[in-house]
Amino acid sequence: KSGFVAIIGRPNVGKSTLLNYVVGQKVAIMSNVAQTTRNKIQGIYTSPEAQIIFIDTPGIHKPSTKLGDFMEKSAMSALDEVDAVLFVVSATEKRGPGDDFIIERLKKVKQPIFLVVNKIDQINPNDLPEIVDQYKDTLPFKDIVPISALQGNNVNSLINDLIKIL
Ligand code: GDP
Ligand code: MG
Repeated sequence: KSGFVAIIGRPNVGKSTLLNYVVGQKVAIMSNVAQTTRNKIQGIYTSPEAQIIFIDTPGIHKPSTKLGDFMEKSAMSALDEVDAVLFVVSATEKRGPGDDFIIERLKKVKQPIFLVVNKIDQINPNDLPEIVDQYKDTLPFKDIVPISALQGNNVNSLINDLIKIL
């Protein structure tokens, strides 16, 4: 099995940390390799079962210039080319305008979207339902996966979820 997965989220939620953990020592990070003109391969996860190519979509944030607007539209159309989208949010911060902007954009996306609630090592587990409630009805998430990208908690389960839909 193989496929492409885009990682999206506002700055500092832990996208790079997640990618580094997933990709680990198993692969070469190919940060400068072009996949299309619109997006780039950030890393490849390989196991005997599957190969998952992770795509960076850096343009998806609130654009403030014409160039930014162009880049945002390009990044959005790149989402049609992936098999799944990981929408990463931080459990340590409240949902904000940056998240809302991404949610609005993702409403047009037909591919399965996973809500990845990162940094759960920083919160009381009793607070998790309240954190998830801020997002759970905003999009038809395929699954909601709490993780710690830093410590690797539950990341395997996220990968298994992805493999199931490839
Ligand atoms: P990005 O901007 O979304 O790529 O975020 P980064 O991966 O650069 O992470 C931003 C900051 O959050 C860094 O200081 C990371 O070490 C930290 N971070 C990322 N994931 C976790 C996590 O699961 N737990 C904790 N405690 N910190 C994290
Ligand atoms: Mg980053």
